[in-house]
Amino acid sequence: MIDPFGRHISYLRVSVTDRCDFRCVYCMAEEMSFLPKREVLTLEELDRVCSAFVRLGVKKLRLTGGEPLVRRDIMTLFRSLGRQLESGALDELTLTTNGSQLARYAGELRDCGVRRVNVSLDTLDPAKFTEITRRGRLDQVLAGLDAAKRAGLAVKINTVALRGINEDELDTLVAWCGDQGFDLVLIEVMPMGDIGGENRLEQYLPLSLVRARLQRRWTFDDSDYRTGGPARYATVRETGRRLGFITPLTHNFCESCNRVRLTCTGTLYMCLGQEDAADLRAPMRQSESDEPLERAIREAIDRKPKGHDFVIDRRHQRPALARHMSVTGG
Ligand code: SAM
Ligand code: SF4
Repeated sequence: MIDPFGRHISYLRVSVTDRCDFRCVYCMAEEMSFLPKREVLTLEELDRVCSAFVRLGVKKLRLTGGEPLVRRDIMTLFRSLGRQLESGALDELTLTTNGSQLARYAGELRDCGVRRVNVSLDTLDPAKFTEITRRGRLDQVLAGLDAAKRAGLAVKINTVALRGINEDELDTLVAWCGDQGFDLVLIEVMPMGDIGGENRLEQYLPLSLVRARLQRRWTFDDSDYRTGGPARYATVRETGRRLGFITPLTHNFCESCNRVRLTCTGTLYMCLGQEDAADLRAPMRQSESDEPLERAIREAIDRKPKGHDFVIDRRHQRPALARHMSVTGG
């Protein structure tokens, strides 16, 4: 699949559920109303739509959410998508998780062909962890990370940089990831979704500032390593690990964008920062044949926009996009 700007679309991120066992302050409101079941694609439908994308040229699949590992029977989806790895149709199957269920699933994920996981972790302080996630427990996530290591999964930690909350800890996280053998990606807060009483402008911490501060202690060798995603990477000379920066608000990464995102209701977003979307659930439920579904996918890719336009609206302090990251899957 090639979009109107000549970009090969080879990466699909799929949100398999909008539900989560955490309520991170930058992601969700304290009280969330989740989607009724009938709106959400069944595991069979998720398998069917992912397989259609793979037939059309997607080589990398990332399952996310919400929290992918809280969806019931999710391993059946991993298992069946894992078969596409065996046949060579797919190059990589991976996930982004908050880690709360990893202790239970790490070995099985490895069996399904998963080799790398992204685990979100914003702090190493147990009290702060519960404050940020509103209900998570750090020890559970650390146990999950241990299990991932033991299972032989490569781990990348995702950390959202939050002003006044974890900014004094980012330095420690670089050192800790070095010790653990994890790569680290720092993420700027994106203005997505209503998060209740929290204020995004107060959370916002520019990564240019973070980077400058970290460079007082660490030496960064700029790297041309790319995953096809928005992160720019450096290697931390002292630890030998990669450190990535995702700065959607201050930089444009759209020219190399190779990805599209599917929500758990079957809505395809061609760009994280734009509202235009295509419904894939209707063509899928309409017909047993995959032809209408494949046609809808092709038509959507033909409309992929050139870039995004995120802004934190300073006057209104409203999110530039109404949908939550847990819907599009980050
Ligand atoms: N629950 C899983 C997790 O937390 O890893 C997967 C879904 S979560 C929406 C994916 C990523 O998006 C996480 O790394 C999270 O920190 C990040 N995220 C959520 N809301 C965000 C926001 N407003 N700005 C920046 N990153 C955000
Ligand atoms: Fe859940 Fe992930 Fe959102 Fe946190 S960032 S509330 S873990 S979906």
